[in-house]
Amino acid sequence: MNLSADPALGAPDEAVEFAIPTTLAGSNPAPAGRWTHRHLLDVDVLTSDDLDLVMRTTATMAEVLTREIPKVPVLRGWGVTILSYEASTRTRVSFEVAAKNLSADVVNIAAASSSVTKGESLIDTIRTVEALGARMLVLRHATSGAPYLAAQHFSGSVLNGGDGWHAHPTQALLDLYTLETRLPGGSVRGRKIVILGDVLHSRVARSNLWALTAAGADVWVCGPTTLLRGFDAWAASGVAGSRRFTVTSDLNAALRDADVVMALRIQRERMAAGLLPSLREYAARFGLTRERLALARPDALVMHPGPMNEGVEIAADVAAGDQSVITDQVANGVAVRMAVLYLLAGARDGSARDGGGRDVRPEAGREAARGAVPAAE
Ligand code: ASP
Repeated sequence: MNLSADPALGAPDEAVEFAIPTTLAGSNPAPAGRWTHRHLLDVDVLTSDDLDLVMRTTATMAEVLTREIPKVPVLRGWGVTILSYEASTRTRVSFEVAAKNLSADVVNIAAASSSVTKGESLIDTIRTVEALGARMLVLRHATSGAPYLAAQHFSGSVLNGGDGWHAHPTQALLDLYTLETRLPGGSVRGRKIVILGDVLHSRVARSNLWALTAAGADVWVCGPTTLLRGFDAWAASGVAGSRRFTVTSDLNAALRDADVVMALRIQRERMAAGLLPSLREYAARFGLTRERLALARPDALVMHPGPMNEGVEIAADVAAGDQSVITDQVANGVAVRMAVLYLLAGARDGSARDGGGRDVRPEAGREAARGAVPAAE
């Protein structure tokens, strides 16, 4: 298929050849560089050109979604398997809708109802889905690093749909897209973005830190000190380069003049005893209420990756208020996942990746800072 100049996105039934788009989103200039990643395991290996390419491709996919029939044939005949070892609504459904919108053949497997319950290993399951025709594998797993293992055993592309505390790359990309489409000026550069809550257990926070700092935002993470453990060291290691990355338990300082506040769910399923006195106390000290939001800029945007615990990390009236872009985040999840499926399908030569999906290009120097990422499980 050929999305150059996007004719392939024109007629839904047109037979087309595949190539990486050279122009996207109408009159936008061609993005610098090509997509070279075989897998999407995290955003830490994406350069700003890569992020730019994902954003432009997402804009094209968002346009497709406005059509009466939001379907294009670019993945016709491609098997996409979504393998979930952990509960999921938004990510699983939006990957499925995205793959179907691209005309892929989609198979959904919930580990709880598969041969995993009979003792089948992750590697055996991956070999099985590959033998059954999967060329792309979306994997959600409770263990950090599982998609990296999968990438070593799967001959197609692996997309991380969330692994343990570690990473949730498509969430970070859809958050970036949401901000770029909703912030005046269309960019996060120089904007104060606060990630508030259970940062310690949040793969969303970790992937957003990479993506938002790479895109030039001034990122603050805020929560009880027990839920920020390790992030000071990460900030000190220079994850954000010359850009600002601030770690604080001072909620007022974090919220003051913020452009964006992203509340995170208290991840009760990952919470060790003793990290929080009680949910009530957390809500009283760190819950995002209307009064607290008033410290931010008057037009500050409110985000949440979902699922929300209203009345704990976010008040119901804030979640449903005028400043909330939470439903945009969900809707944009489809467009961004269409974009990454499309880009990965076009980069199947894998020439810039090693077997583990790691970036082997010299410019991928930010990998060096990964050792300082706060321990995930
Ligand atoms: N849906 C997000 C995730 O999968 C956030 C959450 O579960 O709280 O990580």
